[in-house]
Amino acid sequence: MEIPRIGILICPGLLAAGTAAAARPIRLPAGLEARRGEVAASVEKASAIVLGFAKSKGWAKEAALSQFDSVEIYSSQEELWRRMVEINKLPAGSQLPTDGLAAGLESRVLLAVAPEEYKRLRPEYAAQKEAWARLLAHEIIHRLHVQILGGDEDAMGPVWFYEGFAVVGAGQSLKPVAEYKTAQEAFDGVAGKGRGAYARYAAAVRFFMSKVSLPELVKRAGRKDFEDWLRTL
Ligand SMILES: [Zn+2]
Repeated sequence: MEIPRIGILICPGLLAAGTAAAARPIRLPAGLEARRGEVAASVEKASAIVLGFAKSKGWAKEAALSQFDSVEIYSSQEELWRRMVEINKLPAGSQLPTDGLAAGLESRVLLAVAPEEYKRLRPEYAAQKEAWARLLAHEIIHRLHVQILGGDEDAMGPVWFYEGFAVVGAGQSLKPVAEYKTAQEAFDGVAGKGRGAYARYAAAVRFFMSKVSLPELVKRAGRKDFEDWLRTL
């Protein structure tokens, strides 16, 4: 998925977010009504994944902040995108930013396609157990990331870093799995776009996490010399 900066409005859902467990309204398509309990359980699971990740890194305070007020699930990517256009007040007819768009967190609304649509869009991602809950967790983690930075979205760093961060934090096992042994390999890996990019982004984050802690990476990622600094580790 190529996510330009404006894509932040989309995949990462950077306009809002939340992990604090509280009853939040869930809007479902009619066909999914019978599975409301299952959907609600996945939303709670997503929050629990984010909280567990945050606690393990010393970000419990940020994770405790409310990140979203409601949840909306759509049967198709097209419907999800139409809603995102509406929420973000984008021009009518705005083009889908990526053919892999499956979720977002916009203006404190956690949005996603239904699990079946996710499987159709991203079979290589959806095979994992709890893949759909982890997809939701990914979106929430983008908001957690912004909270950690005191609200400064511009300090999130390069796309490969904040997307890799969300993949790692959500525990998404994206295929094909990449593994890097040098910084150069990692940079070469994240330079490639297209399908499989997020798996490579996550692999790069994991590689640099073997050199320095994730909180340190997060702190440094917004600096201009971030990648130069990574090469010195
Ligand atoms: Zn993302």
